[in-house]
Amino acid sequence: MKTQDYIKLSETFGARNYKPLDVVIERGEGVWVYDIEGNRYLDCLSAYGALNQGHVHPKILKTLIDQAQKLTLTSRAFRNDQLPFLYKELCELTGYEMAITMNSGAEAVETAIKIARKWAYKVKKVEDNKAEIIVADGNFHGRTVTIVSFSSEDLYKKDFGPFTPGFVNVAYSDVNAIEKAINMNTAAVMLEPIQGEGGVIIPPENYLKQVSEICRKHNVLFIADEIQTGLGRTGKLFACDYEGVRPDVMIIGKALAGGFYPVSAVLSDRQVLGLFNPGEHGSTFGGNPLGAAVARTALKVITEENLVGNSYKMGEYFTEQLHEMPQKNIKEIRARGLLIGVEIKKDSGKARSYCEALQKKGILAKETHETTIRFAPPLIIDRETIDWALPKIKEILSK
Ligand SMILES: *Cc1c(COP(=O)(O)O)cnc(C)c1O
Repeated sequence: MKTQDYIKLSETFGARNYKPLDVVIERGEGVWVYDIEGNRYLDCLSAYGALNQGHVHPKILKTLIDQAQKLTLTSRAFRNDQLPFLYKELCELTGYEMAITMNSGAEAVETAIKIARKWAYKVKKVEDNKAEIIVADGNFHGRTVTIVSFSSEDLYKKDFGPFTPGFVNVAYSDVNAIEKAINMNTAAVMLEPIQGEGGVIIPPENYLKQVSEICRKHNVLFIADEIQTGLGRTGKLFACDYEGVRPDVMIIGKALAGGFYPVSAVLSDRQVLGLFNPGEHGSTFGGNPLGAAVARTALKVITEENLVGNSYKMGEYFTEQLHEMPQKNIKEIRARGLLIGVEIKKDSGKARSYCEALQKKGILAKETHETTIRFAPPLIIDRETIDWALPKIKEILSK
């Protein structure tokens, strides 16, 4: 079978909710992936940040195999011997008092929304069913009906209503808009510290700090969605660390299990997460021993291999080198660590066509929206590999 045959199969039997590049990958190793025709590519997407540790990391693979031979699922009706350690290690790594694990990122976002609402009723004494959560335009928090209810992207929500009430949208990067939107019913402000899907939008300096101060002043929870930016992607453990901000509630996912397994989590302190009572929330697969064991090793790899420091260093180098290239097609380069967005000028064509050209050179990157190319390789990438990619990127970007 050839690439086109796989594409045809997929288009015939699969829902067409994605428009992937025409490459059929069959193997991955570290920063590299291989297609069915034997071509090698540098993965500059890392599954939207789920592969910070690189493809098929040997240590995580070993844990997956060992644990799969012992125990995979108990459901939370019983206890397992892995989840308590994942909770503990997550709290020790991040400095939060409690954690709750789910599977997908969207589920963790839903979990954060539920607990913020409960906090509003139980602690802040907001009137029943009146709780509001303030969110930003341009956000991406997932695909459930509740989450797309507060998306500002028409494509994500058109024809999927009716929507969940209780959300207030304000402009991103605008502190005053948040303060104005806060009222006695406000439970939380929920933001991405950098809008990844929104086009690698980095808010102005001190924005997160000011938002967090406003939240404290008005007795409102600050929820950070670090599903994409967290666990080293931006060159710090969390993007919020750049401003010394400790959100009341932290949402993580993606790289939490190194690309082997869907594991997400919400982290907070006892006064918030302690409000969940048995039966109020749950998931059959959430916190299963296979996922928990894999996540424990995936976290260990991040610290043992100093992926956070490497992300900072390599990100700085990669970005610096992008700035050195001819800028004739580039409108702006926005980067923190190895989350790098290159916005293409309006008259220079679509980002997609640049991604297709990069593919032919052996580099897989994905556009976000129509104008921005995202470079987000696994955090294990070294200088030599970046140096391999740079001339190819330069050639494509200066065409
Ligand atoms: C990917 C992502 C999500 C959703 O995660 P899924 O695992 O796809 O449900 C939520 N928030 C942010 C910031 C993301 O990047």
